[in-house]
Amino acid sequence: MPVLRRRALAAALVLAADLALAGCGAGFPWLREKPAKPAAAAPAAPAATQPAAAAPAQTAPVPVMTVNEIAVAYVRLVLAFDQLDPGYVDAYYGPPAWRDLARKAGLDAAQIQHQAQQLMAALSSAAPEPIAADPKLPELRRRYLKNQLGSLSARAAMLRGQKFSFDDEARALYDVAPPDYNAAENEAALAQVRSLLPRGSGSLAQRYNRYVDGFAVPRARLERVMQAAIADARAGTRRHLSLPAGERFELSLVAGKPWSAYNWYQGGFSSRIQVNTDLPVTIDRVIQLASHEGYPGHHVYGGLLEQYLVRGRGWPEYQVYALYSPQSFVAEGSADFGVDLLYPWQQRRALEKKLFRLAGLSTRNLTDYDRVTAAAKLLAPATVEAARHYLDGDWTAVQTSAWLQEHTLASPERARQRIAFFDRYRSYIVNYAYGEQLVRQYVEAAGGTVPGSAEQWRAFGRLLTTPRVASSLD
Ligand SMILES: [Zn+2]
Repeated sequence: MPVLRRRALAAALVLAADLALAGCGAGFPWLREKPAKPAAAAPAAPAATQPAAAAPAQTAPVPVMTVNEIAVAYVRLVLAFDQLDPGYVDAYYGPPAWRDLARKAGLDAAQIQHQAQQLMAALSSAAPEPIAADPKLPELRRRYLKNQLGSLSARAAMLRGQKFSFDDEARALYDVAPPDYNAAENEAALAQVRSLLPRGSGSLAQRYNRYVDGFAVPRARLERVMQAAIADARAGTRRHLSLPAGERFELSLVAGKPWSAYNWYQGGFSSRIQVNTDLPVTIDRVIQLASHEGYPGHHVYGGLLEQYLVRGRGWPEYQVYALYSPQSFVAEGSADFGVDLLYPWQQRRALEKKLFRLAGLSTRNLTDYDRVTAAAKLLAPATVEAARHYLDGDWTAVQTSAWLQEHTLASPERARQRIAFFDRYRSYIVNYAYGEQLVRQYVEAAGGTVPGSAEQWRAFGRLLTTPRVASSLD
């Protein structure tokens, strides 16, 4: 999508008319205590659009565009970049014609980088649309788009050969400064796990993996156990949030992936959830994945964004989800935080018992298991440190694997999967543990510190329905 050409601007104006705002929604209608307003009609595909043009001259003036026009251009640019960086687009449910146009445009990385920067400049002079119900929203939206475009520009620069350190890459792509590694906290968490495990031979990682493998769900029962966990997470989430009518998901088990599970949001309030069976899936992971991928995690995030921002407000930018972008920090952080919001540690016992029985496991050592998994969760920041040293070239794969085993208690197989993840997704790993930390701070600042309280759910719902990135989590 050209930014500066008048002809294309006219096309964008036609589009903007199609995407007329469909209502502002006062208050927090996604909260359970208030019924949700019916969703407005989805934005229609444009009748006629122009293909993206070549990058304009550096000296061309920045035209005045509305934020909606810039948002349309952003979506098209993201789709164009996916042609060069397959997998960059994680979800898209906008007009199919835009994808065709992006394919035909044949932009190269330099053109995309330049256009992203032009759109950022255009954002600075765009008049924000007033939203009476929430005066902060226009500025949040502008900051979201600016961050997404800046990230796209950085990713295009990477494709052109620019090298970033791990920390600089995380800053450029995800709008976050990864925290320094805290060795003392890691040591304390390891000591806690050590004190909780039954006595036995071998390294701490071997003892830990022997222990948790005793709580792995047999492969033949995994789908049934996952379905039960997702159904419970769905029911629990619906007690607090009003979900879009007709929301649904499909679950499948897969193998040979560098991740443990994935949500592919399809649009129309539907998700495909995949669980990787390469490595044992323990009951603790089942509960975590059901929340993270489903409720109140990615599936709910995708559905609420579609309902309230795409359909409700007519904002086109949320029809596309760029994977390596600041949006992922909020997506992963909220999905990881969601499990504690839904199931504070003392309140997950009933579900655990049910899942243990479905999996054919004894519930005798449930309390000890909970303590061990809670302690092991504190090891998560060490994974970021491993990725940092590995991607910065300080450590080989062998050294990284050994470090992961020692400091995160990964099995050799799990360490291998993590390194495959680093190879594929690079600094994306920062979005999990650190994302959860910042989302928790946001929710606790706005909704207090009582886990799973109505106030926390209200703050969480607000986060999932407003255009936030890490630097606007305040
Ligand atoms: Zn995720």
